[in-house]
Amino acid sequence: MDLTFDDEIEEFRREVLTFIRENLPKSIADKVAAERMDLPKEDQLRWHKALYDQGWACHSWPPQYGGQDWSDANSYVFEREIALANAPRALVYGVGMLGPTIIEYGTEEQKERFLPSIANGEAMWCQGFSEPNAGSDLASLQCKAVLDGDDYIINGTKTWTSEGHIADCMFGLFRTDSSGKKQQGITVLLFDLKTPGITITPIITFEGIHEVNQVFFDDVRVPAINRLGEHDSGWGVAKFMLGLERFGTAEVSRSLASLARLKSMAGDIQENGEPLINDPQFTAKIAEIEIELRALEITEQRFLFQPGGADAMGAEASMLKIRGTEIQQRIYELMVEALGLDAHLAIAEDDFNQAINSIPSGKPEGTGHVTRAYFNFRKTSIYAGSNEIQKTIIAKAVMGL
Ligand SMILES: Cc1cc2nc3c(=O)[nH]c(=O)nc-3n(C[C@H](O)[C@H](O)[C@H](O)COP(=O)(O)OP(=O)(O)OC[C@H]3O[C@@H](n4cnc5c(N)ncnc54)[C@H](O)[C@@H]3O)c2cc1C
Repeated sequence: MDLTFDDEIEEFRREVLTFIRENLPKSIADKVAAERMDLPKEDQLRWHKALYDQGWACHSWPPQYGGQDWSDANSYVFEREIALANAPRALVYGVGMLGPTIIEYGTEEQKERFLPSIANGEAMWCQGFSEPNAGSDLASLQCKAVLDGDDYIINGTKTWTSEGHIADCMFGLFRTDSSGKKQQGITVLLFDLKTPGITITPIITFEGIHEVNQVFFDDVRVPAINRLGEHDSGWGVAKFMLGLERFGTAEVSRSLASLARLKSMAGDIQENGEPLINDPQFTAKIAEIEIELRALEITEQRFLFQPGGADAMGAEASMLKIRGTEIQQRIYELMVEALGLDAHLAIAEDDFNQAINSIPSGKPEGTGHVTRAYFNFRKTSIYAGSNEIQKTIIAKAVMGL
């Protein structure tokens, strides 16, 4: 549902649309629209630089650190138009998570040292939280950091590290004491991924994408001045970051863009000599998911425009995450259903990547990417705290269970 805003906000919307028209390269928007999940780093940084030059790359940060003093309405309109235009997602780990956390917990020296390169995109960050035996139960992490003079020495491993292979730096959680409760004795460290002793190995996911990695640490020395927050007290910092991560995962506006693509595909695909969109059964499925999405959109608006705005969200962010990711997955399911055999042929080949690059003519353009995206989006109900864990958060916070 399009909210009606006052003239000032509508004027701002026009400014954003003009900016997008003049600065978002068609080649990049086409890749996002074609469901490319492995958007190259140079494309991400090119768009980020355009936003940075405009002063919008870190708009949610306080103005003294390069942010904009926008109202919730400005932020909403901005994010919505960016998503609908198929612009790349923001640099989530640096701009979305680490920047606000440094502003909240960092020393003045850390703010001066780290924030400028996050803002201008010179340093791309990744998140080193999960380990082979610590995902949902994150506090049981074991990757060790031992204080030795002015340095911590890290040994162990992190896994599922998104974009670790293209990032410059990592923020991570490390075990600095095992004597108390598992939430105690965790410390947050920030470091360059080129530090000696770090090995990054790819994890190629089922659909053939290199998006995640396992990172190994062998006597890696990190200066203690790179510690964010207090020694042994990183769990509170981690929870702050996880809240920021969860909030961004509903992606209502991007689902609206995907839904529009689904409808357009169903208009192009012929079944029994008729466009698929004329099939009442298939159209009913589209209508069902559109109703769900519109309901979620209104729910998100209600949460965002409540007193306190996004900052007042607790379990609400969990609700949005669950429903938003279910809807994302359903839209891709319907895309695969629309493509029918073509979608299945794209995965039936031995080499899935090759299958994607050699879709024979006659099949709808981007078939492979859609199939890839369908598999890739299975992740959304797992990462940023699995949907089962979100249900536990809601049960505790809302229902008092
Ligand atoms: C594509 C992708 C990218 C990722 N990127 C990153 C990243 O950049 N950095 C990072 O640190 N991590 C990342 N992760 C890791 C992600 O946060 C974890 O996968 C997630 O927290 C789940 O942990 P797990 O994989 O160990 O599964 P588990 O915790 O072992 O869970 C397995 C299943 O059991 C369920 N389950 C577990 N505990 C409970 C419970 N108490 N109650 C009910 N159900 C439960 C879960 O919901 C899940 O269905 C990524 C994961 C994926 C898939």
